[in-house]
Amino acid sequence: MLRSGRLSMQRFHLRGLNTGPSIRPSIDCTAAAGSLLSGVPPRTVVSLISSQVLSRIVLIVLFALSTAAATAAQVAQLREDTAAIAAGADSRARRQAITDALSAARIEYRLEEFMFPRFSGTDIVVDVSAKTPAKTLLVGAHYDRVAVGQGAVDNASSCAVLLELLTVLKANPMENISIRAVFFDLEESGLVGSQAYLAAVTDKQSFSGGINLDIFGYGNTIFATTSSADGKLAHALETAAKDLSMPVRVVEPRQYPASDHRSMMNAGIETLGLALIDGKEIDPILQRSQPEPRILTIIHTPRDTMENIRPEDMEKAYPVIEKTLRLMDET
Ligand SMILES: [Zn+2]
Repeated sequence: MLRSGRLSMQRFHLRGLNTGPSIRPSIDCTAAAGSLLSGVPPRTVVSLISSQVLSRIVLIVLFALSTAAATAAQVAQLREDTAAIAAGADSRARRQAITDALSAARIEYRLEEFMFPRFSGTDIVVDVSAKTPAKTLLVGAHYDRVAVGQGAVDNASSCAVLLELLTVLKANPMENISIRAVFFDLEESGLVGSQAYLAAVTDKQSFSGGINLDIFGYGNTIFATTSSADGKLAHALETAAKDLSMPVRVVEPRQYPASDHRSMMNAGIETLGLALIDGKEIDPILQRSQPEPRILTIIHTPRDTMENIRPEDMEKAYPVIEKTLRLMDET
């Protein structure tokens, strides 16, 4: 039950805190105290200043400790969620792991069954409303897997990250942007779940943007594609990554591996496709060079198991996604 509203709220506030401005007033206070207490014996002034400084230090240490504890809890949660989904051998079992996690976080969902064009499957749909809803962004991650391996990196990892995002946004909704999250089925059968989902949406322009997560289990770099290099989403991603010192590499859709972001782009939605991998793997992926980059020796093979998941990496990259959305919320 780590994914409680209380934890998320605490986590967000911790992330939202900025120790910079809280230190600066202490200097002002010290100066002010010096002038105000000009008639007070020096030893008393020194002890007053010392106790102020000491209390600041205690606060900063407590802040650092609670931030570390919250991060450790989220890392554990990402590992637990990824493992629970990866343990499911088929879509039904993996879907159950996701809906169990949503229920534990008290997040409502609905199951949308489809037949498209001759495949039947089930997408999981979640709405998280803004405080004053004005726009809706679509955020997706496929939960199905290929027959071999456990589909841990591809794509239980992204589902766990999407669960974290939904939990945080439920506790701290955005001002104007509501989120429609879809855990897509049957991506591995040809982007079927996302195509089916979008085919059923009559007003595709109701989405002011879309983000798809596919492969997010380890790495130091966000590997991205966008339908519009000059679009708001691409700019928000670059700003968020820069602010959080996370390397990001954006390439054109034709260079980027296929995933459900293509269904969003084909529906005319301004879209980002996001993955997390090691930066050194990107050129070999683009150039299809040998030996194969590590990620291609994992996905769609028996090696796609929890052994290749690094939840610390996932947790380090997660804030880029949340910040991208919150920057969109400000525009
Ligand atoms: Zn995938």
